[in-house]
Amino acid sequence: MKKIFCLYVCLNFSTLYCYASTSSDEKQFPNPGQIYLPGKDTGFAQYAAKSLRGTKKIVLTFDDGPDLVTTPLLLNILKLHKVTATFFVLTEKINDQTYPIIKRMISEGHNVASHHHDHVSNDSKPEAVFRAGLVQSISTTARILEFENSSAREIYYRFPYGAYGSKTRNYHHLNVMKSVSNDLFGENCINFAFWDIDTVDWLPEMSPQDIKANVLANIFGGTGFDFKRNSNGSYSKVKKVINKPLGGGVVLMHDVHKRTVDSIDLLLNELKQRQVEIVSLQSVDEYSYNGLECRLISPNP
Ligand SMILES: [Zn+2]
Repeated sequence: MKKIFCLYVCLNFSTLYCYASTSSDEKQFPNPGQIYLPGKDTGFAQYAAKSLRGTKKIVLTFDDGPDLVTTPLLLNILKLHKVTATFFVLTEKINDQTYPIIKRMISEGHNVASHHHDHVSNDSKPEAVFRAGLVQSISTTARILEFENSSAREIYYRFPYGAYGSKTRNYHHLNVMKSVSNDLFGENCINFAFWDIDTVDWLPEMSPQDIKANVLANIFGGTGFDFKRNSNGSYSKVKKVINKPLGGGVVLMHDVHKRTVDSIDLLLNELKQRQVEIVSLQSVDEYSYNGLECRLISPNP
């Protein structure tokens, strides 16, 4: 596998060579040959799923669940349409009541991924607090995948608010991520994910029709939606004409909102008519594991 070859090269020659050998199809992992700098190595345009552009292929991702009411409703709709998604869950929400929902996600072919343990911005946390939450969330997610015999073994992670690498901190989250991954897996196994198409479904004034229109506008062009911050600190939706659509990408949604769940049947019907394919995160070049299987060094707590 390319990654093992890379590690061999790293150990025997130079990290510089390793950097070059991993820079294309493994770039959503923290780079093994790089020490990330707070305030400098940040942003996420560089982590777009460029391989999906113009392909009429999208990945559905849902954050912030599981929710006892809305998530099962969403799973019902996805099942009817025979479509799978990636769920970036908050592991603090996993308990005896919600565990059957997680189990169901896995048995119905969805990815269960980490959206951290809590939803506090990591940029506001001291290093030890970020590290502890990351260890807790990643190890919980990986143990569940092992325990439920998930066929998907990839360890995906999404920063709450997409926030990382702020200059207000004296550490960089991606350096910690590499260290945590090495402790848990003995490998650089945590594959972080941003998004290409933001549905802005978190805005209460977005209707199910607006959410659908936003996805379609980002694929085909037309009128979509963005958000603006008002002087009183609240947020409003604003119309946005998209003349140069991406034509495909990773779609950000939230399974904790009824309006989002209500948009999915409308959206999937239209996407089918317009021959848009829903693909898995691991089928996308930028998110591929290239055959690498990540196993916890200590699977039991
Ligand atoms: Zn979130």
